[in-house]
Amino acid sequence: MFSLKDIEIAQQAEIVKITEIAAKVGLKPTDIDQYGDYKAKIKLPVAANKKTKGKLILVTAINPTPAGEGKSTVTVGLGDGLSLLGKKAIIALREPSLGPVMGMKGGATGGGYSQVVPMEDINLHFTGDMHALTTANNTLAALIDNHIYQGNTLGIDQRRIIWKRVLDINDRALRHVVIGLGGISQGIPREDGFDITVASELMAILCLAKDIADLKRRIGNIVIGYTATREPVTVTQLGVTGAIALLLKDAIKPNLVQTLAHTPAIVHGGPFANIAHGCNSVIATQTALKLADYTITEAGFGADLGAEKFLDIKTPVLGKTPDTIVIVATIRALKMHGGLKKDNLEQENIEALTKGYVNLRKHINNMKQYNVPVVVAINQFTSDTENELITLQKLCANDETEAFVANVWANGGEGALDLAKAVVSSCDKTTEFKPLYEVEDSIQTKIEKIVTDIYGGSKVEYGPKAKRQLKQFAELGWDHLPVCMAKTQYSLSDDAKKLGAPSDFTIHVREFVPKLGAQFIVALTGNVLTMPGLPKTPAANGMELSDDGQISGLY
Ligand code: ADP
Repeated sequence: MFSLKDIEIAQQAEIVKITEIAAKVGLKPTDIDQYGDYKAKIKLPVAANKKTKGKLILVTAINPTPAGEGKSTVTVGLGDGLSLLGKKAIIALREPSLGPVMGMKGGATGGGYSQVVPMEDINLHFTGDMHALTTANNTLAALIDNHIYQGNTLGIDQRRIIWKRVLDINDRALRHVVIGLGGISQGIPREDGFDITVASELMAILCLAKDIADLKRRIGNIVIGYTATREPVTVTQLGVTGAIALLLKDAIKPNLVQTLAHTPAIVHGGPFANIAHGCNSVIATQTALKLADYTITEAGFGADLGAEKFLDIKTPVLGKTPDTIVIVATIRALKMHGGLKKDNLEQENIEALTKGYVNLRKHINNMKQYNVPVVVAINQFTSDTENELITLQKLCANDETEAFVANVWANGGEGALDLAKAVVSSCDKTTEFKPLYEVEDSIQTKIEKIVTDIYGGSKVEYGPKAKRQLKQFAELGWDHLPVCMAKTQYSLSDDAKKLGAPSDFTIHVREFVPKLGAQFIVALTGNVLTMPGLPKTPAANGMELSDDGQISGLY
């Protein structure tokens, strides 16, 4: 069957002025800074004065496979579906990183008839937030090296600097570098490395800060490294908190755009969920909750990563827990979890689907542990058979969970009406949120609870460096911070090849990265990397800019 590419649908769409979208949620032209006709930033104090306390819907998913799950697509379609029901809805998504845009998957603005637009702008430089973050991060790196070069009054040990440089592109050649080569006047030589911008602490801070005061407090608390006697050195000590904060003065304001059906969408902040905390900004979600009755937001990758971090790291800062969690699953991906190869997904296979359902069941049970109502959205692909769709609905019903077919990729909001109605009634249930761990639990207890209760593993093993760090964190009083697990997205375990619902496995924590500004400790598991590499045939190879300025190949 011939179908238009995402970018062709987006380019043919009728798009309305951003002032019109702003007006839908009660924002006047003076409440926004316009970036051309179709993008705007919402001025910060604006939403704080609004009284609405909307419902929060978190969209998450099964473990991703190369077959694709379509969380953003369902998030957008559900938002449009709620709008069609006459509800005041708003969508809150993350900003795409150029890493996956150029690397694995092309754009990240939804797909088919459930997209946010202008998709080219959002996927490329948008309103410059990623660049501001990259610049702010690297300014701090330059200030650290200059401090050492100029006499190092703080006594920073250049072998113990943990603040890395960043770039928003997958570039494996920059994972480990030596800087300051070339003689006395070029600085002090030392080993350094690059992370991708979306894994940076500044990205996490931008996404967790409640306001500018909180942004500055968090920046000041960043630990950039240690002295020779292992004392932590902070940005406050370097005296550059103000400089770093002002480089983010516009990036901290949420970006307003629209869906193809003109539902307002806030697209702001974009940490990855495997190597960072995976949720859009607290400011964006807070703003959305005040502007509309229903906020539909998404956390990255599977519910073991994005949703766990949303519920354990973001909600305590947000001060609001989700009213409903929507878990997105596809027949194709579940068949892969059931053992089928990517090339065999087009044929009906009830056996593989039933076998692979264990992955969805694990995520359903995990999310129910938090005592939030759960609804499943089956993101329909054209190859799905009626028999397969009914089978999956029955499997979910056996686990006392309602599952709705969402045909949003083909039909936009119209394809999500049943799902939207179910979400509305689910949001009216009153339940009391049950956190996975207590704030005062130790780092080890928190990791143990995540590994056993969410991943389904039996044991945690700490490498020699991680063991040394646990002792150091206890001495420094950092041993009660939340934990941000850095783990492969493909499996519930730390081995990307273990699909389905593995059990009885060990999670290997090789190292921790303390992020005192973000207020969490990153636990690096397995062989996960904070600077990804590009694949053999990057998405970049299919991109083109015509002589008259038309973009193609962004998917
Ligand atoms: P996620 O948010 O889970 O990473 P996206 O929503 O970004 O996934 O979708 C990834 C890709 O899959 C997009 O190019 C989108 O067009 C495509 N896609 C999503 N849902 C469907 C579907 N039901 N049918 C066909 N393609 C789809």
